[in-house]
Amino acid sequence: MRIRIYKGRILSFESPSTVNEYRYMVVREDGRILELSNEIPVRKGEVVDYSDYLILPGFIDTHIHLPQFYQRAKINNSLLDWLEKYIFPAEMKFSDSEFARKASKEFFAELLRNGTTTAVVYSSPHKEATEIAFQEAEKSGIRAVIGQVLMDRNGPEELLITPEKATKDIREVASRWHGSDDRLFYAVTPRFAVSCTMELMKRAAQTAKELDLYIQTHLSEQVGEIEVVKQLFPDIPTYTEVYDRAGLLSEKTIVAHAIHLSDYERELLAKRGTKIAHCPSSNFFLHSGVMNLRKQEKFELKISLGSDVAAGPFLSMLEVLRDAYYANAMTPRKAFYLLTMGGAKALGMEDRIGNFEVGKEADFVVLELEPLASINDDIDEILSKLMILGDERNVIATYVRGHALWPQR
Ligand SMILES: [Zn+2]
Repeated sequence: MRIRIYKGRILSFESPSTVNEYRYMVVREDGRILELSNEIPVRKGEVVDYSDYLILPGFIDTHIHLPQFYQRAKINNSLLDWLEKYIFPAEMKFSDSEFARKASKEFFAELLRNGTTTAVVYSSPHKEATEIAFQEAEKSGIRAVIGQVLMDRNGPEELLITPEKATKDIREVASRWHGSDDRLFYAVTPRFAVSCTMELMKRAAQTAKELDLYIQTHLSEQVGEIEVVKQLFPDIPTYTEVYDRAGLLSEKTIVAHAIHLSDYERELLAKRGTKIAHCPSSNFFLHSGVMNLRKQEKFELKISLGSDVAAGPFLSMLEVLRDAYYANAMTPRKAFYLLTMGGAKALGMEDRIGNFEVGKEADFVVLELEPLASINDDIDEILSKLMILGDERNVIATYVRGHALWPQR
């Protein structure tokens, strides 16, 4: 088997405070890491020289909407208004397969250009467009978890589905793609409690459980949204309990935002092992509020980061890191840990990706630091510069499983 030796300043985030540094990473053709060292490796192979560059574990975006890709920066400070005005019409366009294909292709290429190696993606409410999203994700080489958005009320007729049809669509697409190449996975994706009946959510949860699929949805993003949920489910005390009654909260569930929670809700999420995708850029953009990281961590909730395009304006997770820092003061080490290992843990993939260890799969980003910093600067200074000033212009190459996916060759 062919072997490649990557040479560069290689950083791996072991914990929110520990960074390991290496000079060489030896990768087998199948993408496995064979060796990490500071000395010239014993194994022989083709040397890929990134001596002047930083090599970091691939960025993991645990919350992003494919059909909203072209809707960034449409300002509005009411989530429900913004959905109706810009997002529902944009998602309707995905009934056109040709359009869906073009958008999906551009979307995954753009993620790779930004250094994102794994993305957790909401498709549109169309089965066909979701199928196309999987096909284009497969071709691009990216790692992805994708799901068809489900809604059966409070939206335009064209975007609604019946619980029966939803179950059928999930089964059909998941049977083809869940676990494909051990790189693509299916997520059951009820949009949020405002647009789903209890019956739809229950059947979605049941199907996810049967087929061992991921689940993703939105939780407690804005105060106005929470009030609507209260009106729709008057017998259930909290938003989080609505999902719990439906059976949607599990260890394979990622909820986005989770900003306005009571401690009781935090405790419940922690008990179910549910993960939180923190999307600070989106929260600032829609004026949703600021998630309190310290409180979430007090309940040992697992946090990862999401761009939430298009409520979040940036595909670059480096820009999302800056906003994460503005939302909650944290060290750059911790921010990069949340971005890499935090994402891997949200997906239960920490044994395979998230940092560099022998036996793991080589997903990584090569970054140019000039003119922000110089390659020999202190680690914390470099990370701080990247966190506050970095964006996709710093990314010079993106690799998934040892394959260079960007720039395309
Ligand atoms: Zn979202």
